[in-house]
Parts: sequence; structure tokens; C-alpha cells
Amino acid sequence: MRTKLILGCFACLVLAATAAKAETDIIPKPVSVTEMAGEPFRLKNSTTIAINDARLHGPATYLQEVLTRSTGLRIKVKSGTGRIELRLTEPDEQDESYELTADSRRIRITAHSARGIICGIATLRQLLPPEIERLTPTEGMDWTVQPVCIKDRPQFHWRGLMLDPVRHFYSVADTKRLLDQMAVYKFNKFHWHLTDSQASRIEIKAYPKLTDEGAWHPYNHLDRGCMDRAGKENNPDLLIPRKYIRETPDGKELYGGYYTQQEIREVVEYAAQRGIDVVPELDMPGHTHIACQCYPWLSCMGDGNDPLCLGKETTIEYAEKVYAEVFQLFPYEYVSIGGDEVNRTRWTQCTDCQKRIQTEHLRDVSELQAWFTKHMERYFNAHGRKILGWDEILEGGLSKTATVHWWRGDHPDVTQRATEMGNEVVLCPFTFCYFDYAQTDQTLQTLYEGDIVPTDLSPQQLRLVKGMQANIWGEWIPTVERMNWQVFPRALALAEKAWTPRAEQQWDEFLPRLQKHLPRLTEMGIHYRPLKTNRP
Ligand SMILES: [Zn+2]
Repeated sequence: MRTKLILGCFACLVLAATAAKAETDIIPKPVSVTEMAGEPFRLKNSTTIAINDARLHGPATYLQEVLTRSTGLRIKVKSGTGRIELRLTEPDEQDESYELTADSRRIRITAHSARGIICGIATLRQLLPPEIERLTPTEGMDWTVQPVCIKDRPQFHWRGLMLDPVRHFYSVADTKRLLDQMAVYKFNKFHWHLTDSQASRIEIKAYPKLTDEGAWHPYNHLDRGCMDRAGKENNPDLLIPRKYIRETPDGKELYGGYYTQQEIREVVEYAAQRGIDVVPELDMPGHTHIACQCYPWLSCMGDGNDPLCLGKETTIEYAEKVYAEVFQLFPYEYVSIGGDEVNRTRWTQCTDCQKRIQTEHLRDVSELQAWFTKHMERYFNAHGRKILGWDEILEGGLSKTATVHWWRGDHPDVTQRATEMGNEVVLCPFTFCYFDYAQTDQTLQTLYEGDIVPTDLSPQQLRLVKGMQANIWGEWIPTVERMNWQVFPRALALAEKAWTPRAEQQWDEFLPRLQKHLPRLTEMGIHYRPLKTNRP
């Protein structure tokens, strides 16, 4: 990771002479923090946020929103100089490093990109009292920042969370709350798993049945399972929210929901303002039961069963048309095709699929999936996108430019094999990174201390490790309250693993910092799992 040294930290050098004892509890831990003696900075009605470059208007508006919603102060954004200054120098969009200095007169965040400024804003949020995270104004607070100089940059470029609104649906408002919480901890990738066997959650104008029919269903075994648990565990967070129930004209109740293209644009813009790229995933050719039910001609033998038939031209046309709409909605280079857990045996019995295997000179059905992935990759590339997929896409051969999500923690050689072949990898092995799995104090420590990055990679291979993410699968997470319980506080451990250099990650130092940090989660309205609890 390339990072330029930010010049102009004269204030740091001068004030360091009077440095006080370090007490900040920022997560993820910054590279360097120098606390100073002296009067604190105070937010007032007259405080202005000043930018030196029009590209910082978005970050400045975001900071204004964060600072005004909880303080009730009138804080304006302007160009030039002000008491809070956001400064872009030597612009480089890939560089997320930043420098933050605060004294009684001024706070200044300097970076080479808007993303760097946004990382600095995340730090500033944590330098203010925890009440800054409230969504409504608090009277009588003294909103201060102690004098400090922070220089910081991330270890990994990819710091993500994946959310699955398919198995259980989460509203746009709930999704935005998660994005805002992610921004506090410098996560920058939101992997949005939008389709699966049970439902389709994204409006595709060319195929309206996907959401007209495919976004709704009577309670299934997962819904009933959650409600059973809610009763047995006396836990209302496991109940299915009534707001996601729709009554049909004949009086039946259907569960579900989907995002219109307008809502998706809104979420993408909200995330962008917080420095977060949204990486959509529309899983193909497996996990497509609902698509095959809506359009049976997508399936082998036309019987509406999973997976997609890769022998038919109409299926390929479908995949391309769906992604053509996806590319219009998500402006970022990475788009995931999923590609996991495909039941390939049906392709052995399908004359169309067998014909494709013959005409393309493929050896077997795993090469048939690889043929599809490569075909789609060319289509992605022609639209300026890079293809991502779960690690099964390695099977049957993979082009070098595809990026792999290593999820099968019981296949520890995946990262070794993928990077040997020259493929980039994002790490999310279920052994550490499945946040829908049960959480204990021990799993928190195991996550923090564990080697998510395999230790047997060469320096060249390590350069292909883009970063890490956690996956929040929705089967047992019917509400945002349950999501918070499963995700926090361990997301803070992952944030630090992805941001802070490995040598700086010390559990004994992290744990008290995390404990000091928990009131901040409470102020954010996060119903997190307290430490030392036995509740599942
Ligand atoms: Zn077929």
C-alpha cells in the first residue's frame, strides 16, 4: 500500500514538546497519536467547516450532519478558512491516509483524497464525547476535543461488511444506520448480497417478476425457526417484524420486501458520502431458486429448479441484462457474481448443458461453471467492472483478473492457491468472519488474536491480499436489533485487524480500549452483545 508522507505537520512537532499522557481510545488504533497539553477545542454555534477544494463538499456536508444532529448547533460549510478545516493536498484518490491536528483554536484534517478526509472525520467523531453519536440534540453538553496530533493510514484497502437482506429483509433506513456505524470504524466496503434462493431484493426492470413475485413469500422454515427461538429464548429480537408483512387481496400474509432502483441509488449515495463503496452481489449460477421459479425457462428442463441452465442462450442473455441494470446503479469497479455452492449434478442430465460442454470443449460441469464465469467476466470487463466471486469460482479454472472471496475456512489453502495463480483475494473465512455465528468473549479474542491473513504467503502473494470483511448472513437475523447483537462489538475487532498493523494488535491493550468504547455504541443506539454475558 502506497502512502505519501503528509507534509506540514509543524504543529505536531512544536506541540509534541508539551505532550500529555496518551488517553485516546480510538478504534481502529491509529498509527500515531500525540496528545498535547493545553485548552481543548470547543464546538460552538459560530463554528464553521471550511474546505479548500470543491471535492470535499460531500465530506464536509457529512461532518456537518454528524455535528449538528446531536449538538443542535448551527454549523456552516464554507470555502477558505474556518475553525474546522478540511484540506486536500497532492490529490491521489487511492490514498486513505490522513492527519488530524486539534488545538484550542482549530481542528484541521489533511489528506490526499476525500476518502482520507472521511477517515479523519471518523477519528474526529471518536475524539468528541460519546453523546456526539446521538440522533437528536442534547442540551447542556460541552462539546470539546483535547489537543492532539494524529497521523494515520490503513494497513488494508478492503475493510468490509457483507449484509444478507435476502433471508431476512432490512429496510433502507436500517441499512443506512449500519452504513453510518461502519463509517465510525473506517469500514469502506459494503458487500450487499441482493439475491439468493429464497428471494430477490433488487428491482430489475427487464424482469419485474423477480421482485413482484420473488420478493414475497409465506413464512418459510427460517421465519418459523426464528419465531420458535424467540419464544424459547424469550427474545423479541428474533420475532419477524410486522412492518415486513403484506396482506394479499385474498387475505394471505406474505413476508418480504425489496429495494427499488431509486432506493438503491439513495443507499449508494449515502454510503459514498461516508467513504463506503457498495459492492453488489447477485448470486449466479447457483442460489437462484427464486429466479427459476419466477422464470422457469432459466432452469434446465424448464422446471423452475436451481441452478441456472448454462446451456441455453436465453439464460446468458438474462444474466447480461440483469447485470447491465446493476452496472447502472453501482458506480464502483467491483461487482460480485457469487458463484458458490452450485448443485452441478443437474447439468449432467441436461441436454442443453451437455451440448455446451461439447461445443466449448469443456471437460466436465465444473469447467462449465468456469466457462460461464469467464464469459460473464468478459461482459463485466467490457463495462469497466472487475468480477468478484466466492472461492468456488477457482474450481474448473479462473482468469487472473477475477478477485476471490475466501470464505471456506476449512479449505485453508484457498488463499495460497489463488494468489499463486495471481488472483487477488479478500479474506472472510467462516472460522473468523461469519458474524451470524454465535458470539462469546472467547470468539471475540480468537478473532482479534487470530491470523486471518495466512502466515505462509510470500511478499508477492501478500500484495494480492486486498483486505478482509465479515459476512452477516441473515438466516437467524430477522431484525436490526438481532443484527446489532451479532455484529457488535466484534466488528470493532475486525475493523482494527483490517486497519492497524498486525504488530500493533495487542489483545491486552485492545480489550480495555474496547470496554471504554462501549458507551459510544450505546449512544449510537446499538443493541450490542455485552462482554461476559451467557445470552445466545
Ligand atoms: Zn441446462
